[in-house]
Amino acid sequence: MKTAELSGAALDWAVAKCEGKSHIVNAPHKYFYSPSTDWKIGGEIMEREGIDCIFHPGVTAHWTAMNVDYNVEFPAPTLLEAAMRMYVYMKLGDEVEIPKELKSEKTIVGMEVGRCTFCGYICEWEEIPTAGDPTCSDGTVQCCPECNEGESFDRYVLAERKR
Ligand SMILES: [Zn+2]
Repeated sequence: MKTAELSGAALDWAVAKCEGKSHIVNAPHKYFYSPSTDWKIGGEIMEREGIDCIFHPGVTAHWTAMNVDYNVEFPAPTLLEAAMRMYVYMKLGDEVEIPKELKSEKTIVGMEVGRCTFCGYICEWEEIPTAGDPTCSDGTVQCCPECNEGESFDRYVLAERKR
């Protein structure tokens, strides 16, 4: 997915990846790490990374984010969204591989997902790849496609999104 088109859950997931954090926060209740809407998180990243934003008034008012070390600008409807796109670009580049469940925010609630405890990879619970293992009772184990760890997935039901 183009970094310039990231928004919502997909953008938050990409920022979590940049920060080495989990997109799903587990305590005290499960909720989503949301730097693109939460000023405490997003503002802190902006300050640390030297991301600047300019407001463009007009009919389709929007914000543009920039950083002196990079020759690109990222426009977005909100300041935090623009800034987080800039940050993802600085860390991951022009394009980011996003788990397909996260591309549309609408499909998230109620979905069962697995998250690899080793590398943070997220996919739909039913779609976690398996590998043959004769020592296992049913002959297969879950196998993470990112880091190749076996049986490394925690199961989550995505129930709410904290704002
Ligand atoms: Zn993994």
